[in-house]
Amino acid sequence: MATLPWSEQLANALSERKTRGRYRQQRVRSGQQGVDITLDGQRFLSFCSNDYLGLANHPALKKAFIDSVERDGVGSGAAHLLTGHSCYHDQLEQALADFTGHQRALLFSSGYQANLGVIDGLMARDDVIIQDKLNHASLLDGGRLSPAKQLRYQHNDMTALARRLTSTQSVERKLIVSDAVFSMDGDIAPLADIMDLANTYQAGVVIDDAHGFGVLGQTGRGSIEHWQLSADNLPIVVGTFGKAFGTAGAFVAADNDVIETLIQQARSYVYTTAQPAAVAAATLASLKLVQTETWRRDTLQALIAQFRQGAEQLGLELMQSFTAIQPVVIGDDQKAIQIGKALEQKGLLVGVIRPPTVPEGSARLRITLSANHTQQHVVQLLDALEQILAH
Ligand SMILES: *Cc1c(COP(=O)(O)O)cnc(C)c1O
Repeated sequence: MATLPWSEQLANALSERKTRGRYRQQRVRSGQQGVDITLDGQRFLSFCSNDYLGLANHPALKKAFIDSVERDGVGSGAAHLLTGHSCYHDQLEQALADFTGHQRALLFSSGYQANLGVIDGLMARDDVIIQDKLNHASLLDGGRLSPAKQLRYQHNDMTALARRLTSTQSVERKLIVSDAVFSMDGDIAPLADIMDLANTYQAGVVIDDAHGFGVLGQTGRGSIEHWQLSADNLPIVVGTFGKAFGTAGAFVAADNDVIETLIQQARSYVYTTAQPAAVAAATLASLKLVQTETWRRDTLQALIAQFRQGAEQLGLELMQSFTAIQPVVIGDDQKAIQIGKALEQKGLLVGVIRPPTVPEGSARLRITLSANHTQQHVVQLLDALEQILAH
């Protein structure tokens, strides 16, 4: 048996986690992702996927995927720089450059890898990375991987960011890094202000638009469109496909020099197998739907408004969010777990998020909405919350 010499320590730490209500566990899904989902054999109405536009099982994506498998096979067989870069990857990169208004786009196998790569690929010793404290773990890990110095600033606090920029004024290369939509709070970063500060202090900017891309903006171009940033004042953007796009993978969009540098230096790009061509083919199909089917964003916004209004009437503590991520703050870990369980008994599934993913004392239900939900679904959730919280 493969046992570590310190396995007793592992066992102790695991059981302590269990007592504290912080044990993470997989559950087995059978059938497709969606608002109607089966986990460990039980059916639920789900409010915890990131399939915001309801595209994960769209017939057009399935068809593009299957057609590509028939033509191009399954495995891509190698990294992008060897023989893994198919014509679908290439088409998708060009389509994404057009869509985002950037010169170039570069595909990564996941958002996690894109975030590691964009930071590690651009920043070296003597450089400074300045990150929002609530940034996604993958961005913070990118900073840890890089030999550059990493500083953090209070969440969305532009005065604190300005202080960091002032104190590092003598450093030539500074990179501001922020989520565009924060994944556990659903609020957005003040991108216009960040770009202004970046211009004043001559810093670069990377934003991670995992939860805005496809969802925000009239045509789904994400936070860039929401903030109406001009073409000559765009941050470097990371977008992912595992959320609103309903597939998997990610990209970085930037100018030619940044992209070429990442191709040379981003280790999470160079040293990994390209995603299957079929995933790129399906993502191309999804990009078309994101652009043309604006009703998906409209439906989603209507459901968000309905949920917020209902939740406020119930006196629930919501966050400053107009995105598909609608957390309800509970506070105490155990209480949040209990409410999550009570919802499950009523056939409703929400994310129960506890520290260390969120700060101590801010355990929450992470409710996410999708264009595939109906008004009736939202009513069902609100009714259940009302009944459970009345006890
Ligand atoms: C999900 C997420 C990622 C990671 O993307 P994957 O494609 O799932 O690896 C990165 N950043 C943010 C903000 C995310 O929510």
